[in-house]
Amino acid sequence: MSTQPRVDTTCPYCGVGCGVRLDARAEQVSPSPTHPSNRGRVCVKGNALHETVGHDGRLLYPEVHGKRASWEAAINTVADRFSAVIDSFGPDAVAIYGSGQLLTEDYYVANKLMKGFIGSANIDTNSRLCMASAVVAHKRAFGEDIVACDYRDVEEADLVVLVGSNTAWAHPVLYQRLVAAHQAHPNRRVVVIDPRTTATCNIAYRHLALAPGSDDWLFVGLLNWLAGHGALDPAWCDAHCDNLDATLDAARAHGSLAQVSAATGLSTEQLIDFYRLFARSEKVVTLFSMGINQSTNGSDKGNAIINCHLATGRIGKPGTGPFSITGQPNAMGGREVGGLANQLAAHRDFDDPTAVDAIANYWGGPRMARAPGLKAVDLFDAVHAGEVKAIWIMATNPAVSVPNSTRVRDALARCEFVAVSDCMRETDTTAFADVLLPALAWGEKDGTVTSAERTISRQRAFLPRPGNARADWRIVCDVAAAMGFGAAFDYPNAADIFREHARLSHLLNGDGSRAFNIGALQSLSNDEYDSLRPTPWPMTTSRRPARPFADGRFYTASGRAHCVAVVPQAVPQHDNRLLLNTGRCRDQWHTMTRSSLSARLLQHRDEPFVEFNPADADALAVSDGALVELSAANGRYIGRARLTPGVTAGQVFAPIHWNRQFTGAATVCELIPAAVDPLSGQPAFKHAHVSARAFEIRWQACIVSTVRPTTPDADYWCRVPQGAVHRLELAGDDAEPSLDDLQRLSGHGSRVPWVFYQDNLSGTVRAALLDGDRLIALVALTRTGALPERAHTQSLFTAPVEPHSRMALLAGVPAADQPDVGRIVCACNAVGERTIVHAITVEGAADIACLGKRVNAGTGCGSCRPELQHLITTHVPARKGATP
Ligand code: SF4
Repeated sequence: MSTQPRVDTTCPYCGVGCGVRLDARAEQVSPSPTHPSNRGRVCVKGNALHETVGHDGRLLYPEVHGKRASWEAAINTVADRFSAVIDSFGPDAVAIYGSGQLLTEDYYVANKLMKGFIGSANIDTNSRLCMASAVVAHKRAFGEDIVACDYRDVEEADLVVLVGSNTAWAHPVLYQRLVAAHQAHPNRRVVVIDPRTTATCNIAYRHLALAPGSDDWLFVGLLNWLAGHGALDPAWCDAHCDNLDATLDAARAHGSLAQVSAATGLSTEQLIDFYRLFARSEKVVTLFSMGINQSTNGSDKGNAIINCHLATGRIGKPGTGPFSITGQPNAMGGREVGGLANQLAAHRDFDDPTAVDAIANYWGGPRMARAPGLKAVDLFDAVHAGEVKAIWIMATNPAVSVPNSTRVRDALARCEFVAVSDCMRETDTTAFADVLLPALAWGEKDGTVTSAERTISRQRAFLPRPGNARADWRIVCDVAAAMGFGAAFDYPNAADIFREHARLSHLLNGDGSRAFNIGALQSLSNDEYDSLRPTPWPMTTSRRPARPFADGRFYTASGRAHCVAVVPQAVPQHDNRLLLNTGRCRDQWHTMTRSSLSARLLQHRDEPFVEFNPADADALAVSDGALVELSAANGRYIGRARLTPGVTAGQVFAPIHWNRQFTGAATVCELIPAAVDPLSGQPAFKHAHVSARAFEIRWQACIVSTVRPTTPDADYWCRVPQGAVHRLELAGDDAEPSLDDLQRLSGHGSRVPWVFYQDNLSGTVRAALLDGDRLIALVALTRTGALPERAHTQSLFTAPVEPHSRMALLAGVPAADQPDVGRIVCACNAVGERTIVHAITVEGAADIACLGKRVNAGTGCGSCRPELQHLITTHVPARKGATP
């Protein structure tokens, strides 16, 4: 498949931005040994990238109204419909909704088209959903959206405070670096601040399980305590900070230990212990993520954290600083080019008329936007209201990922014109498209991304372009040309766009008044661009990296940092419902369009789930693994209950990934109201009230087939792609399907000869279909009995079936010499939980190294090590002869 020798590129998943290397045949991924973000490490998602580059499910040809079309027809349709709407209703009646998955070059031209040529700032992005609050916090404090730290600071800090971040799962390689640093320096400390006990807590010196949404109280209290205990740095503050007095007044008014304890639910002893630790640690990094940003006062929460670093001078020095870590691979690049509706390109803002004019002149467009556009939630509201009549969605899936997604679907269904650029044919969003534009996928794309630590890296193409797919930047430029703007969008390659972007960042910035100035890269030749090594900004004119704020200078008009007086928000009160928290799984990415292509990545969590505290589960009469239903005003979610004391009573946790391509009712955003931070427009994904009940079933069934099963009409269903076979789980509380129904759902029909078995007492039916000596379908249904062991059932498809063992196919359990390994924990080596627990409790494995030697768990990418540690901690006391 590959046409090139080894290629170094960048992982397309999270904001860590790891460098990865593909072998000559694109059959194996290894971590780049020299990339500064990962230095030879990779997580399980990155490790499985080569398993996701096939053409299964790809959108390869343009479509207009569901029919294959030429590029010319598709481009002209988008251009004509956009132009017609603009002519009749003005530029604000059209919009673009982009993504942190886009490359910087894609983002740049989309932003240029919308803001410089169409004349509207209605271009927003799914990055609004993950880090817009941090952008506001940075701009208020530093005068520019600049992340204060890099990953080396996390390794060097005496104390790392992880707030609202399950780093072990969401940013695994950064977590691995943190673990390695702490193993080398055992006196360093990690404090995890999170309502849940997550895998990240395995390295925590302290875990503060505060009340959801009360982080602002904790940090306002920290500032007050530091001020009251002589732990500020007055000399540094005098020289470099504004507004400290007002900020301290607010902290005094709201940050007493009693107030903070009441709001957070933490004891005063816990608070003092943490506050003392912060005060005594010379080097402190506070790393924050979605748990901070995704709330109705996420901006204030970010500033409450930043205030503590400014007031103590713990910023601008190695091993110190507030560190907002981005979720997506190019959320940072989107910020650089102005991909948010309230930003201009090159970190410029609409409130600076000189900058607006300068950019208008630079682009030479006919119509420059002069005011911010609609942010994501407002944008889809405007689509719903008919105010935005044409929308172009690029590389994202808002029908799943925007809050109140039921209303978003309704908005897209009503919208006069919807164009979608995507690399996948079937997503919840492409279902609403009038025009589908096939985009290149990772492995085929060429451009740059910027990581959470501000490092610009190349994504390099190593696969040929499939079908008629085109680069996103090329599609945008083609539409721009069809709208009459061809001269300004006539780029021969991505390098040319990058040079224009770099030159713009230098515009009006000759005095170094802005941090984002990559003018040193504006003259790269095509060859230099191709071979560009990872390059962090800020940078000197000779491209040397520069530490932000090292000289105590900030990017405000005065050159001083600005402390923000934060008044904490009332913490959400309990009613008789549960408080829903949402987040990521270890091995899945966003709406699973790509990560589900790897069977390995679905082994860790293969069905939607809800984590419950056992006490709540008891009260609801829900057992572990049973189906449970969450409901809210606008939707419902059905998944498997997972009982864990790591979730506090009164709260539940559900993942963000599942959607209607994979299951009937587990789009968690249907439960999330569209409440946003008024400053950043970022939605509050972490705090929704839901009702819960056991989902009663009368029957359950499972189908495994070599053909993708048809989507059923069942109360619960979940499709689990497993490489060469597909699995379908079904359950309902109505009349069960007949064997004939199940056989049809398997995609093979009921007329061919099936081997089958029936037990009327338990209402159990099992049937298998062979093609020669190969199993090609297996269906099972039961009312009161058990379904076959799934891992075992899937393994039956991998080898020829001997004639004498045909009926054994229906037994549903492994033969005695093939032990059931249980749920897969180590995805690299397919080591299951039962194997691991056996090694711990019977064979005496007491640490991760020992588990690696005994059962090969944790010896691959390392993503499973936090779970292995958790299993060791849980099961060592149960070991035969172990001291309790
Ligand atoms: Fe990719 Fe993030 Fe994993 Fe690195 S940590 S390999 S960027 S998913």
